[in-house]
Amino acid sequence: MTVYNPELTWINGAFLSNRSIAVEDGKIAAIGVGDNSDKGAFLPGFVNAHSHSFQRGLRGRGETFATGGDSFWGWREEMYKLVDELSLDQFRMLCVQCFSEMRQAGITTVGEFHYFHHDKQNDFAMDTAVLEAATEVGIRIVLLHANYSHGGFGKALSGGQKRFATNSLDAWWERVDELAGAVDGSMQRIGTVAHSVRAVDIETIKEIAVGSVQRGMPMHIHLEEQRQEIEACLEEHGVTPMALLNDAMDVSPMVTAVHCTHTAAADMEGWLTSGGNVCLCPLTEANLADGICDMHRIVMKGGCVSLGTDSNARISMVEEMRSMEYSQRLHREERGVCVDSSGMMANYLIDAATKNGARCLGISGGEIAVGKLADFTVIDIDHMQLSGATVETLGAALCCGADNSVILKTIVSSS
Ligand SMILES: [Zn+2]
Repeated sequence: MTVYNPELTWINGAFLSNRSIAVEDGKIAAIGVGDNSDKGAFLPGFVNAHSHSFQRGLRGRGETFATGGDSFWGWREEMYKLVDELSLDQFRMLCVQCFSEMRQAGITTVGEFHYFHHDKQNDFAMDTAVLEAATEVGIRIVLLHANYSHGGFGKALSGGQKRFATNSLDAWWERVDELAGAVDGSMQRIGTVAHSVRAVDIETIKEIAVGSVQRGMPMHIHLEEQRQEIEACLEEHGVTPMALLNDAMDVSPMVTAVHCTHTAAADMEGWLTSGGNVCLCPLTEANLADGICDMHRIVMKGGCVSLGTDSNARISMVEEMRSMEYSQRLHREERGVCVDSSGMMANYLIDAATKNGARCLGISGGEIAVGKLADFTVIDIDHMQLSGATVETLGAALCCGADNSVILKTIVSSS
């Protein structure tokens, strides 16, 4: 058994002193009285609910605009160029680099939305490479294994997209089940993905949803990041992507829609009423000029919102937290949009970075409570950036004024 005595411990939305945390078999076994002898404030480990680690290789690329403004779709061409270039070893190296940087940013679990599967045709070599990279870095991972069948509504896969291909649904499930049988179920778990309504037809999405429920796996999907996707879906199906899903599948707390940048109010109302989650990636959404999700409506409804580093152009959960609230302030010309029922911004943002991410990934983490995974992000409360903060203002000081340099260390407890 390991026992920590943090200077401060984040429990039920407040930093408390004089607490001890006993850890056994990778879980929090007891919380008692402590002597504050371990430096730093312990938060639950940050959960990064949406990442494509190989895209770390794009950092700094596609940022020259010689012919004027560009869009998401121009960036996507740059991403496909990277996909064409990468060898298996280079892919693995990017994952190691990315996961290492995540640990330094306080992230203890990553939900890797993984659609880049193949080195050679249909070999799924990249799946193993991602898991090996996570093991090497010691980050907990939920590998969200993507079904990717089409290059767009009614279009065949082309070029670099062929490295994403999942040809038959049965063969894809076989691969998912094979991976689920091979991982330890603690440090590494498997979930499912339908890449988007563009890349997977609705009948297949329905079957993935049913199969995921049968297996107890979380299911994620990119949704309504770009207006073009909504327009194409309206043309194909006569409804928006989220309306299509609300109608076709059993939405539940095990299902997460990523982005929801342009989602209509009625569609979001239906999604949240069914218990569906939303994952935002504010830094990537800004980088890709996606737009701004209407968080006000989601907060009013009490929806579960998590955070992801997505393209990994910048890896910082504190900046993702800050950006989630600040983009709303800029958009609405109003402060305090992402707040809990007591009006606490820090509590809302910390929940998004911890327990809401855990819910989206179907893991028992994200809280410092008995029985939960013993993963911690330790904050240096003596750091210059947090100087002057009190126990009451520390959370907000972290959200508004800190960067990754305040992260003293992360602790990931394997069983
Ligand atoms: Zn994504």
